[in-house]
Amino acid sequence: MNRIPLIAANWKMHKTASEAAEAAQKLAGMCRTIQDVEVMIAPSFLSIPAVSRVLTEEKSAIALAAQNLYFEDQGAFTGEVSGPMIKDAGARYVLIGHSERRQFFGDTDSWTNQKIQAAICSGLAPVLCVGETEAQRNEDQTFFILDKQISDGVKGLGSDSLKDLVVAYEPIWAIGTDNTANNQQIREVHMFLRSLLEKTFSKEFSQRTRILYGGSVKPGNIKDLMEIEDVDGALVGGASLDPETFIQIIGFKE
Ligand code: PEP
Repeated sequence: MNRIPLIAANWKMHKTASEAAEAAQKLAGMCRTIQDVEVMIAPSFLSIPAVSRVLTEEKSAIALAAQNLYFEDQGAFTGEVSGPMIKDAGARYVLIGHSERRQFFGDTDSWTNQKIQAAICSGLAPVLCVGETEAQRNEDQTFFILDKQISDGVKGLGSDSLKDLVVAYEPIWAIGTDNTANNQQIREVHMFLRSLLEKTFSKEFSQRTRILYGGSVKPGNIKDLMEIEDVDGALVGGASLDPETFIQIIGFKE
């Protein structure tokens, strides 16, 4: 099945709204000639409206994402942001279960499940992030952990409601470390994730669901990564902050 590659930027807690809008404008201009690759950017919550305005003005196909959401639509949840708020601000995707959420903010597999349900109810496509720590890999726990993160994350949901699901494999030891997983490690995990999706849902579902790799993706390694079977794109942190660098990753086919 033909899966359109998705190259996604996670800007994390970087850029003010005006800096994000400026970067989005540059990127929109540079992406005009890009074909057959979907581009997504995830700025901070506060930057979503400004980036959305820029992308609309530029008539850009770049998709906008949030980096997180809370699973209730509204209520007494000080400091949280809901799916309907994110959708209304112009986003199409939302990252769920990023390792920094799991490590620093206590997001659990049960929370990722509730967040995926909330995203779907709000009309947002969930990008479920999974990945093992270095210790878990050294203890041969990688596949067990990934199985749990995926199975718990999609619990109770059918393939129809998950039709826009994207999975991002991000080994925690490879994030922001310049220590990209090697091709063999990536190949076997992506193959495992694809077969897990097939076992959980169906072959058709597993074949249409995009599985991204994330962890120190750079202009210098994207071409190799995209040649690995079952890699359908990349989730990029540090190297997505500068539009000039990120466009080199987006343009991996050139
Ligand atoms: C990330 O945090 O999603 C990520 C992949 O970061 P980096 O590209 O900086 O490793």
